[in-house]
Amino acid sequence: MIRSVISILSILSILSPVLARLPEYQPEEPWLQGKSGARLGRERFGQELDADSLHDYDVRFYRLDFELPMTNAGYACHERIEFTSNAPALDTLRLDFDRLVCDSVRRAGVPQAFVAGSARLRIALSPPVPRGDSLALDVFFHKESTAVQAGYFFARPPTVRHSHGMTCGCPRDNHYWFACWDHPMDKADRGVMMNFTLPDTFQVCANGMLDSVTVAPGQRRKWWWRHPYPIAAYLMTFSASRFARWDTVVANPCGETVPLIYYQWPADSAATRYGYRMVPDMMRYFSDSLRFGPYPFERFGHVPGYYGFPWGGMEHQTQVMLHTTYIGGGHEATIAHELSHMWWGDMVTHVGYADVWLNEGFATWAECQYMGHMNGRAFFQTFIRDKARAYFAQARSRDFPIYDPAWNDIYNYGIEYCKGAWVMRMLQLATGDTAWEQPGILHGALRAYRDSFPYGTVSTADWQGTVEQVTGLDLDWFFDEWVYNKGYPFYDLTWTGEAVGDSFRVVAELRQNNRPGVPPVFHLPVPVRLNCGSESVLVTIRPESTLQTDTFMLGSCVTSVALDPDNWLLDSTVVTGLSGPGRNPLRGPALLSVAPNPARGAVRFELPVVSGPAAVRIFDNSGRLIHTVAGHGRVLAAEAGLLPAGVYFAQLLTRDVGPLQKFVLTD
Ligand SMILES: [Zn+2]
Repeated sequence: MIRSVISILSILSILSPVLARLPEYQPEEPWLQGKSGARLGRERFGQELDADSLHDYDVRFYRLDFELPMTNAGYACHERIEFTSNAPALDTLRLDFDRLVCDSVRRAGVPQAFVAGSARLRIALSPPVPRGDSLALDVFFHKESTAVQAGYFFARPPTVRHSHGMTCGCPRDNHYWFACWDHPMDKADRGVMMNFTLPDTFQVCANGMLDSVTVAPGQRRKWWWRHPYPIAAYLMTFSASRFARWDTVVANPCGETVPLIYYQWPADSAATRYGYRMVPDMMRYFSDSLRFGPYPFERFGHVPGYYGFPWGGMEHQTQVMLHTTYIGGGHEATIAHELSHMWWGDMVTHVGYADVWLNEGFATWAECQYMGHMNGRAFFQTFIRDKARAYFAQARSRDFPIYDPAWNDIYNYGIEYCKGAWVMRMLQLATGDTAWEQPGILHGALRAYRDSFPYGTVSTADWQGTVEQVTGLDLDWFFDEWVYNKGYPFYDLTWTGEAVGDSFRVVAELRQNNRPGVPPVFHLPVPVRLNCGSESVLVTIRPESTLQTDTFMLGSCVTSVALDPDNWLLDSTVVTGLSGPGRNPLRGPALLSVAPNPARGAVRFELPVVSGPAAVRIFDNSGRLIHTVAGHGRVLAAEAGLLPAGVYFAQLLTRDVGPLQKFVLTD
């Protein structure tokens, strides 16, 4: 999912009366109360427990047969749910179910007692179902046309161009459109079948592939959709309207052919052909065997969301929903983001919303990777800096860890998306995976993660464990500082440089002035570039405490220093240079032009724009001051014949002291 950059406030204002009437979801199961799914996942890691076994039944399959009138917001549904008992004698099946009316429940055709209320449908199971046994129940329910629009949305012209019914229940409004276990930890292992009987002037699309369309009484048709892959309730969807369909295919580098099936309103057909033109390229990029590997499902495609759709995109499994303003081009980042969710979010799904960054941080990082691939390195740097700015803006008003956000913050853009993406980028740095554009260590870890939890659910600990197994590194420190804690480092780098014999010594002091409530020391290695004229040397400072002092010896003098020149750190930085024997603060580039160099006879020092008196100090190779040229104006000259041949360093002295600049005198 990604937020819409268009008028969110106006959309929320449409939805807010609806949302305000909905009760907050309260898990009934005691193990879910006050205990996040991720913590369950952490306990689970290494214990071979399956999230599916963490409540008293395991959903196996949903079949939903809808009757959609397309004239109002009501509908009827025959739902078949197949499940396996995880209890010794399961005597009640509890499903999430709200603002829907249950008409009857049958077990092998025999009516069953049920109670609907408090956002639950409780079905008596008589006889009880022994542990390990499976059962199918038929639930007949309907939605009143006057019921609150949540999970399922319906609108007619003139509000929209064509009558449109669609579902979008992320994160847990799915029990407003069908009876389900409305939590991502238990996927329907065998997938979902959705069939729709509706007037024959409408089309309908849903997860997976359309199997067939058959004729139904009353000038209606029945559409049969099937998706035989494990699926969480929040990734299920359907849309019905007067759609046009566009089919194409993409051949992936791994040898697979993936159907791309798009539904859109006929008037948008041309726009979508332009707007979706990069999807095959994105598919090939992500499916590369060195990146994410084969596409995990039987097809991919898009369908537009209607006016109330509060997001830019939503990663419903195999069928992404895009905001109507996003379909005509210029939104490749969102499209790449949602496509990457097919791997990270849909195939490998967070076990609970405490771990939502595993979905959104990964997809935002993937979006940055693709945009860099598409537009080049300079664009990439700007793009990820924008993500950093979005996080800093959020952090200024309210900061919190990306792990286990408050319920209202699970889709906080600055924290979960942007900082989440930066955590992935910094994990690349921490694991030594810093080659531009080349899939490396982190991609290998992602493939191991995919292979370890295929079509399953995961926690942050699962991801950490996978990266540690792939790299052999202990990353507790990284996850503690960047995932389980809030904040970011405030670096203050002070450096001094001076000639020592025929070498140049740089002493760098890296201080962390981190805000209260965040780790006092972030231990991530800090890349530092020492610039020596036109050449540079990249060194690394590894902070062990709030003040880390490192010394570097170089063969030539250092004229400036840059902390994190390639933008690997989510940080705030101040760099202060101290150079030469004077050790006064350097403010700005007080650089001389020394010519000719090498010189013979006389050497000219051309000054940058300065006012007032200026001087150039000349040091020998051992750092000894041997001569000063003073005067006014932009050009000072020294009689080189006064000095023996050798290597010298010149330094501009105005109100500040400039860096040392090497020059050579010859006989
Ligand atoms: Zn997303």
